[in-house]
Amino acid sequence: MTLILRKLCAAYGNDTVLHQIDLQVAPGEIVALVGANGAGKSTMVRTISGLINSSAGEIWFDGERIDRLASGQRVLRGIAHVPEGRQVFHDMTILENLRLGAYVHQGRRPDRCTTREIERLCKRFPVLAPRLNDMSGNLSGGQQQILAIARGLMAAPKLLILDEPSLGVSPALVQEIFGLIKQLRDDGISVLLSEQNARQSLAIADRGYVMSNGRVVTEGDARALLQSEEIAARYLGVAAVSSERNREYVGQLASKLKHALAT
Ligand code: ATP
Repeated sequence: MTLILRKLCAAYGNDTVLHQIDLQVAPGEIVALVGANGAGKSTMVRTISGLINSSAGEIWFDGERIDRLASGQRVLRGIAHVPEGRQVFHDMTILENLRLGAYVHQGRRPDRCTTREIERLCKRFPVLAPRLNDMSGNLSGGQQQILAIARGLMAAPKLLILDEPSLGVSPALVQEIFGLIKQLRDDGISVLLSEQNARQSLAIADRGYVMSNGRVVTEGDARALLQSEEIAARYLGVAAVSSERNREYVGQLASKLKHALAT
């Protein structure tokens, strides 16, 4: 599988927010997409998965041009997207959430394959196994992120797109999630990882793209990007700070909530 973007543009109404993006994900690669809040990372990954229409340029996947295909067709071809904020269905069980991930294959793939896939995922993500019939809303933020990734894998993707998997997740679980992402690559699934947490995502990635104001400002070997003082000072420092701020914000919300519940 190879994903290629050529001069890709996207707009909200008349506002173009993605400008002429060239990007490539090769088989078996983790590619990190980093940049501060508002740089355009989410817009880019939504455009790849077909949740937003591109306004110009091309998207190629496995040798086929896909930028005019509906999002479900892109899932069928092997692109799964785990959105920012997880969007796990709280009032559904973990099992129901997992089954939803395989919906595009309904009627195309025997039910026993879905069941087998769930068994496989339970081995890969032991935290989910004993809780399949629990409501997903009872899981912690990090566990919900793991469920969202597992749900994405139910589509049997060749390319998994993860949008901010570390957002609102405790540092210990962030480590676990990033470890899982490395395992996925080892299993032959390519990963496009959109993250404000630039340092950690570049640390596990093969290559990286740095975005600012809807443009790719630089790209290259992930380690080289991490070691570049200029890039760190101009882009990654800001990204690290804003990711810290996000965590702070989520922490403040949680303590306000606890306070409200206690009074
Ligand atoms: P974040 O981490 O905050 O999601 P990001 O790098 O993913 O940041 P985007 O969410 O893609 O950035 O935002 C890129 C630009 O598009 C920003 O200027 C943002 O304000 C704008 N934007 C995002 N979503 C919408 C929308 N639904 N309608 C209009 N403008 C939007």
